[in-house]
Amino acid sequence: MSALGTIVLWNAGRVGTSPATRGRFSVVVRDGVIAEIAKAQGDPPEGAVDLEGRTLMPGLIDAHVHVTSDVSRSPGFGPRAARSGEEPRPRELGYFVLAQTAGAFLRAGVTTVRDVGCYDDESIVLRHALDLGLLDGPRLLCCGRIISATAPGGRLFGTMYREADGPWEMRKAVREQIRRGADFIKVMSTGARSVVREDPEPAQMTREELGALVDEVHRMGLRVAAHAEGLDGARLAIEEGVDTVEHGLSLHRDPRLLEVMAERGIVLVPTLTTFHDLAERFAPEYAPALVDQAKRQLDEAYLTLGAARDAGVTLAMGFDSGPPGANVAELVRMVDGGLTAAAGVAAATAGSAAALGRPDLGEIAPGKGADLLVVDGDPYTDPRVLADAANLWLVLRDGRPVAGTALEGKTPATPVGGLSVGNGARSPCLALLAGVERA
Ligand SMILES: [Zn+2]
Repeated sequence: MSALGTIVLWNAGRVGTSPATRGRFSVVVRDGVIAEIAKAQGDPPEGAVDLEGRTLMPGLIDAHVHVTSDVSRSPGFGPRAARSGEEPRPRELGYFVLAQTAGAFLRAGVTTVRDVGCYDDESIVLRHALDLGLLDGPRLLCCGRIISATAPGGRLFGTMYREADGPWEMRKAVREQIRRGADFIKVMSTGARSVVREDPEPAQMTREELGALVDEVHRMGLRVAAHAEGLDGARLAIEEGVDTVEHGLSLHRDPRLLEVMAERGIVLVPTLTTFHDLAERFAPEYAPALVDQAKRQLDEAYLTLGAARDAGVTLAMGFDSGPPGANVAELVRMVDGGLTAAAGVAAATAGSAAALGRPDLGEIAPGKGADLLVVDGDPYTDPRVLADAANLWLVLRDGRPVAGTALEGKTPATPVGGLSVGNGARSPCLALLAGVERA
């Protein structure tokens, strides 16, 4: 992206830090980075965007998403189901669904997404399109293929998995993902709750295997996200030094492990919604044994959420569900499960940034990236306001307005070959963007 110039966000009634601050604030964004936060005094400077007392908070970060053109678990999203006799749908239609997905994230205020496993490298293709400026979307971090021991899930998940056995093959599998374009590595330290023939209790890899994998990833400067359901696999993952534990529902059984996570800064991504999905929402579509298991796991996931909070573990928001754009349901569930509203918002912003190893994101402070939401209402006392896109007045990514009701019906100021699409800066529709001086 080219240089973005300066934008002044004037008269924010609340600025989301931790804890959020009330007052009248002015936030200056320069070249996509927060340059200055000050009290808003006197008259707004020329060209400032008047927030009229709305809340300013960091963009939401979802640390556990599966970016996919498969909309079967996203009711109401994407193309309607195919009918018998219709023309076959070419595989390439999927890329339009991915484009729609990127827009849905932005309109929901989700400005960064960590993809923890997809089919056919779809998230890497989407990331490429975003990098080239072909469309607007969230910042996207990809894992390439999930590294798993040879296991029944390999038959179900196909191109989402890279099966590997033995320490050297683990290293090779890591290197393959880096070659593929991975930003981080995802590993199955236990089996998956969604596979009948996998037992999610035992560790699915040996210590030697997981240790070699973590060593290889860290040696290359990347981070490891470990899928961990049962306690033995979670323990192994924590002892071998992974950076995030995904699901981690059994950790309440051994609070000592949660203390170790807090000490070492290992982030927990509880993914409560996925247990609701298997136990309730999509129960008719799953094998009954998996539904029964998910009901037990759902209770455990909430127990672990509370135990992790008490132990001081950094928590991150991971929706692990669909449709894209409904992500804030996970934040609401974390609050229903015992986090304060402010702690829930912190998990969905700074906590998720910690999970991604991106300290430049997730907070409003000088030097941080200007992924920002201007919200009608106060998510720091009621995060449910974020669940209604009508309350998202403006969404900025890297300091650039990309979504929000303030832009509705307005032509996005996307430069195409040096020209502004639409009526350009003279259009009254673009008055809001007048504060953005293009370099
Ligand atoms: Zn997942």
